[in-house]
Amino acid sequence: MNKTQTAAAAERKARVRKIITRLKRNYPDATCALQHETALQLVVATILSAQCTDARVNMVTPALFTKYHAAADYAVADPRVLEREIQSTGFFRNKTKSIIGMAQALVERHGGEVPDTMEALTALPGVGRKTANVVLGTWFRKNEGVVVDTHVHRLTRLLKLTKRDDPVNIEQDMMALVPREDWTWFSHTLIHHGRQVCIARRPRCEECVLNQLCPSSTV
Ligand code: SF4
Repeated sequence: MNKTQTAAAAERKARVRKIITRLKRNYPDATCALQHETALQLVVATILSAQCTDARVNMVTPALFTKYHAAADYAVADPRVLEREIQSTGFFRNKTKSIIGMAQALVERHGGEVPDTMEALTALPGVGRKTANVVLGTWFRKNEGVVVDTHVHRLTRLLKLTKRDDPVNIEQDMMALVPREDWTWFSHTLIHHGRQVCIARRPRCEECVLNQLCPSSTV
């Protein structure tokens, strides 16, 4: 790193500390908005949340969780029936394949239980790093990474905490900037902030608690 890059990195680090302090005042308990009571339910809900709002997923999952209790139930599900049951969340054919494949792998490799490591989770069909981070951080309380969804992607770039565009690279940048004990909370908080205040295409900068720390602020 040359001198300019070192100074920019130090500025980002100092700014992110202030950002975290302000966000903690406003969202001290931010957590996952997907309704769930078990690790399996959270995996299924997170798979369903791809390209779909959490609110929509939360409309679909109560009936699903009443019908399918264990991994073994999803593993033997009729794909055509499951497709209909999750249709309103979009991309339902792929999501059905993911849920059934994930559940079969849980039954075959993990006795039907959801594993608690990044390696084992991401080895499951349909489970990428984002889903694994949600499950590890929210259910198992393990800060293994930073969830980069559409809101975290947008806000970290608006806040100029990263210049990169790929979620994997953005996650690396955030892991370097944010203290590990805050990784899970930080992702959920940016997601809440992105839904409520820094709304895509119409950010409410005038009422944003970060407006003095945000290079993209319009006020
Ligand atoms: S100041 Fe505006 S652009 Fe920056 S985070 Fe807040 S709402 Fe988003």
